Amino acid sequence: MKRTIKDIDVAGKRVLLRLDLNVPMNTKTGIITDDTRIMESLSTINYLCDKKAKVIICSHLGRPNGVVDEKYSLAPVADKLARLIKNKVIFATDTVGEDAKNKIASMEDGNVVLLENLRFDKREEENDEGFCKELASLADIYVNDAFGTAHRKHASTYGVAKLLPNAIGFLINKELKVIGNILSNPDRPLVAVLGGAKIKDKIPVIENLLDKADTILIGGGMAYTFIKAKGGQVGKSLVDEEKIDMARSFLEKAKHSRAELVLPIDNICNLDIDSKEKPRKFPSDSIDENYMGLDIGPKTVKLFKKYIKKAGTVIWNGPMGVFENPIYAKGTNKIAKYVAKTKAFSFVGGGDSASAVVKSGYGKRIDHLSTGGGASLSLLEGKSLPGLEVISDIENN
Ligand code: AMP
Repeated sequence: MKRTIKDIDVAGKRVLLRLDLNVPMNTKTGIITDDTRIMESLSTINYLCDKKAKVIICSHLGRPNGVVDEKYSLAPVADKLARLIKNKVIFATDTVGEDAKNKIASMEDGNVVLLENLRFDKREEENDEGFCKELASLADIYVNDAFGTAHRKHASTYGVAKLLPNAIGFLINKELKVIGNILSNPDRPLVAVLGGAKIKDKIPVIENLLDKADTILIGGGMAYTFIKAKGGQVGKSLVDEEKIDMARSFLEKAKHSRAELVLPIDNICNLDIDSKEKPRKFPSDSIDENYMGLDIGPKTVKLFKKYIKKAGTVIWNGPMGVFENPIYAKGTNKIAKYVAKTKAFSFVGGGDSASAVVKSGYGKRIDHLSTGGGASLSLLEGKSLPGLEVISDIENN
């Protein structure tokens, strides 16, 4: 078990707190369009303030690629944070420079300093030793609560943790508990709904779940590689030719493993993604050669619903179709609704599926909406997260 902030004494100490404050923002107006990640970080910030720590928050925002770019400044996040917590929030206009050092030097216990975007310095993503040392020199203790970046080996998520006494915050702790429980002791049947386009990202998850889940429902673009592997005609649908053999071996393996692999039986198709033609329905294994599958069809929705309704636990990651276009979003929205309404414990991985669920208005009915798409996928694959490997276990206290 990892050491948490409850296991360390932080009073009067400078605590470098890595959060994931990478919130969607209108870069022209600086208006934050979804503050979930800020809200999810509040309990750790408030706890540290109440315990009289000097809280030095660091985060990345967007992809500025190692250069200072005002549109990725964390200044609007500092304003938002100041409105949400009772303690003072001071914004440093650099990360490890003079402004940060001066503002940290004049902090009082319970104050909060938010450092400017870590990724304005290219050394952050390189896990540069010098940058790690500069970050470590700002604080006495390091706390990681950035679940969304815990699968990254960056200076602020990995290197710096090795240089300071460390712990995890409440958010990471909650994510680990929930995913750990799903993998080791779920209410059954455990039904995984996997979609999206990048089959290579989901293959290790399917592999790990073959013996853990009872049913794996496969939708989205990656389903066609499986359908083709079974000998189906998928027309112009998305297929990863290099993964066909692997998909075939999974289908074979699934015959002897715990999980049943369930593929779509019908699809909403069109000539291409932008076609203005009326979409047509085809059985998933006989799609016209000029058409591509862009969403799961009504029969598949019904079939998937049956499994979701009977589940004890549901995990969902990845959209069922090209949901960015409302014409092909029906399957994803229906699944969002069923996952939210099920009596089962529901877990939705971050990214597209989380935003689909929030957009559908059912976000509040999900038992656990993960804040990290990539990180939760890594855990579902059975992999450890670099950002956690470097945090001490409680036994080593
Ligand atoms: P991923 O990052 O692998 O979870 O994939 C998410 C993307 O998959 C979204 O942008 C969807 O538009 C895309 N997607 C889902 N279904 C399909 C499909 N049938 N054909 C092409 N792209 C799809």
